[in-house]
Amino acid sequence: MKAAVFHAAHDIRVEDVPAPTGVGSREVLVRPYWCGICGTDLHEYAMGPIVTPAKPHPLNGSVIPQILGHEFSAEVIEVGAGVTRIEVGDRVSAMPLLVDNECYYCRRGLNHLCVKMACVGLSYAWGGIAELAVLPASILTVLPEGVSAQQGALVEPAAVAAYGVDAGLVKPGDTVLVTGAGPIGALAALYAASLGAHVFVSELNPSRQALIRGLGVAEVLDPITTDVAAHLKDLHEGVGVDAAIECSGNERALQTALASVRSAGRVVQVGLHTRPASIDAMGLAQHDLTLVGTWCYPVTDFPRIVGLIASGRLPVENIVSAKIAMADIVEKGFETLLSPTGDQVKVLVNARG
Ligand SMILES: [Zn+2]
Repeated sequence: MKAAVFHAAHDIRVEDVPAPTGVGSREVLVRPYWCGICGTDLHEYAMGPIVTPAKPHPLNGSVIPQILGHEFSAEVIEVGAGVTRIEVGDRVSAMPLLVDNECYYCRRGLNHLCVKMACVGLSYAWGGIAELAVLPASILTVLPEGVSAQQGALVEPAAVAAYGVDAGLVKPGDTVLVTGAGPIGALAALYAASLGAHVFVSELNPSRQALIRGLGVAEVLDPITTDVAAHLKDLHEGVGVDAAIECSGNERALQTALASVRSAGRVVQVGLHTRPASIDAMGLAQHDLTLVGTWCYPVTDFPRIVGLIASGRLPVENIVSAKIAMADIVEKGFETLLSPTGDQVKVLVNARG
């Protein structure tokens, strides 16, 4: 079967690999539809292996070369003898985190912090950018009729964004700043708006500004031409917004987030920084601020996100900026997304074409 396989930095190949030969009792064979390219995939391509295992993974022994793809929807082709909840023909979204269910965190329900965590499409035998994949039935959420296969491929990043916004304790009527309008920032804006918040998005890339305007749920602020914190204070009685969700992984954006929230406000670090950032620790104390980080999402959150999409309140498909064929994944996917002048936000790969 055809699959997009990570071999090394700048070496991702669409090639023939052996197809799965069967499923275990609690496993399901699926045929992926659409799969998103994630920032983690980009980091692997640019400077990996980082999270793809160069030596056997402690949870499952997987090792590179690795079939990529962890944000995907699929059709069920075959189910193991012990699977009763899922049927052949079901359309599903895969929650890709694989955990040991034994460690300190798993035993406390914090499975997304598992000390041995692996991930479908990064550290597992199979991935979503392939013609077939074998998955544990337990990680699959069946998509209802009203949720498309493309929406199903966006549940994973939407879960990341939702967990970040939820950590900001955002309530209806709150004011929220989202810094950075990549896929997670755009989804955080959509999710915060779905909760009834008034949303501002700070973003300097014109293409990404245009995408946010097109969503129709947030006001766009350009940090090059606008003092974002001063502007948000002007708009809100001189005090600022209730919460800020930092989705860019940029030091100045984090500083802006901290400067933009009112006293007793919350700042959530969702974006991944590649170097240490300095913050105004005095301001943190003086203004009674809460600064929290979030990692992935609770492993149980996919059914809720799918339900929110089904309700029509979370139109995740609106963040898709391109749909490409698997054969074009390097040129039109990775290279385009890494280009400094790039105009892409979320690229979906057709695993069937
Ligand atoms: Zn664990």
